[in-house]
Amino acid sequence: MRWSHCFVPTLKEVPADAEIVSHQLLLRAGLVRKLAGGLYTFLPLGVRVLRKVEAIVREEMNRAGALEVLMPALQPPEIWQASGRYETARDVLFKLKDSAGREWVLSPTAEEVITTIAAAELNSYRQLPVNFYQIGIKFRDEIRPRFGLMRAKEFYMKDAYSFDATDEGAMASYRKMYDAYNRIFARCGIQAFPVEADTGVIGGNYSHEFMVPAVTGENDVVYCETGGYAANIEKATSRGSVVPTPKGRTGEAPESFATPGVVTIEALTAAPYSVPAHAQIKTLVYVADSKTILILLRGDDQLNEAKLMARTGAVQVRAATADECQAALGARPGSLGAVARVPATIKVYADEQLRGAQGMTTGANEDGFHLRHVEIERDIRVDQWADFRTVKAGEADVATGEPLKIRRAIEVGHVFKLGTKYSEKLNATFLAENGQRHPCVMGCYGIGVTRTVQAIIEQCHDKDGIIWPTSVAPFEVCLTPLNVAEGAPTRVLAESIYAELTAAGIEVILDDRDERPGVKFKDSELVGFPLRLNLGEKSLAKGEVELKPRGQVVQMIPVAEASARIIAWVQAERARIRQSAGVA
Ligand code: ATP
Ligand code: MG
Repeated sequence: MRWSHCFVPTLKEVPADAEIVSHQLLLRAGLVRKLAGGLYTFLPLGVRVLRKVEAIVREEMNRAGALEVLMPALQPPEIWQASGRYETARDVLFKLKDSAGREWVLSPTAEEVITTIAAAELNSYRQLPVNFYQIGIKFRDEIRPRFGLMRAKEFYMKDAYSFDATDEGAMASYRKMYDAYNRIFARCGIQAFPVEADTGVIGGNYSHEFMVPAVTGENDVVYCETGGYAANIEKATSRGSVVPTPKGRTGEAPESFATPGVVTIEALTAAPYSVPAHAQIKTLVYVADSKTILILLRGDDQLNEAKLMARTGAVQVRAATADECQAALGARPGSLGAVARVPATIKVYADEQLRGAQGMTTGANEDGFHLRHVEIERDIRVDQWADFRTVKAGEADVATGEPLKIRRAIEVGHVFKLGTKYSEKLNATFLAENGQRHPCVMGCYGIGVTRTVQAIIEQCHDKDGIIWPTSVAPFEVCLTPLNVAEGAPTRVLAESIYAELTAAGIEVILDDRDERPGVKFKDSELVGFPLRLNLGEKSLAKGEVELKPRGQVVQMIPVAEASARIIAWVQAERARIRQSAGVA
């Protein structure tokens, strides 16, 4: 490809509405352009990268034995109603009407469609296991599309769905996908780590997310450096707070005391009250799928809403408004408690950290008053104990006791063991060997292909631009003759090296633009081709050219060796990446 023929609209300025570096570089390198919030056009170089990532995903899915299919993005709402997700996924579901007034939905994922296929086509245990995948466009009505391709309204996803006869079979299918994901991200040239994950609205009971560490990520990952534990903070557990919960028996009955104007945990820690946060009970009123509930946490803990949803089975949870608190408990937020006046209809959940807590202080359900000497198990009706708190850095890992760390990361893939949730609802059953009918045991496996493209940039760049891993670069090599005039020695040589490299299967772009060297160098660094060859008249007179691996120093090499050196370099890079992925 000649640069003059390839549409590469690079930008000098950082686009004003791009907040994170990978989004800025996508735009600046001329890979994509924004149509509207969360909607992007891929330009020629962007498409080349996208297709390469897609090809890696496809190869590894095929290697793992999955079968490629292609499902419609436009889907009838009935199958969504049958699975129950017409309601539970309504926040992300795009709906539209055709000219006859009939409603359709745009696929945010495709469990419903593939399970419909399974229901109709899979009948015998002899047809199992089977794993179907597709690579295609998904739509999600994200409230806040942002960070370019990271959170878009329309994006590319690889989604796979496995059907097994048994639970052990489903575990084996899961493992195959898990291993394939490790290979895929390694072959894309990035580090992505599997972490234990919450299952959210998809449901199921076992799940890992693949995370690319990045300060701009939207997830917090809790991990133990020595023990290998890693989990999304939505799911992570620890041995508990580093400050022990007060447990010494005071023997005293709860006693109300005036706390005028005190409506926060923090205010009660200050003089004249001086009640440390860990000696307070925080009472939260929540609405979980339209039911009012109470959640009790230690004062220094934060509620983890993903855990709340997982423990209560609710698909939507929100904090109650001040008026709803008043109606439920007769007081405003800041004075709420669970010792008195809790109607029997309101279920009370308490965090495990509070078990056995004594000598605690909590709201009195009377504005301007708190209660002290509270013993939770004596004074409060707790209906269910569970882990509701968010782990904090420094707490001890359950397995090793080592302090846990927390870092930000980008979720690029997600594997779920679904069990029979969808197969039961959509009637995907098979005849087992013993003649009995059973629902298929399912798994589902997603990779955000477009998000992965941007995650690669987020992990592989420097101040000058992108540093593409060779496996996903739009071109592997950029030839840069400084004088491009027809017949100029640098141009003639560049053309002959171009022909040799292309014949050797190397992907080359020849920068034939009549631009100043500085402009050409800057552009090629910005776009991030892994290797550049500079052909200048002065060095050529000495029989030399400049080899410049992206992000490394220039090496002078003899002209006669140029093609062979480039071919060897590219082949070594390709092999290194494949080896790191464990692929021959
Ligand atoms: P998130 O928590 O980031 O909203 P999710 O957990 O809802 O994602 P999944 O349903 O697990 O996403 O989808 C599989 C993959 O699709 C994700 O791992 C992610 O890489 C990608 N993905 C999900 N939503 C988007 C989006 N709005 N834009 C781009 N990629 C997305
Ligand atoms: Mg996910």
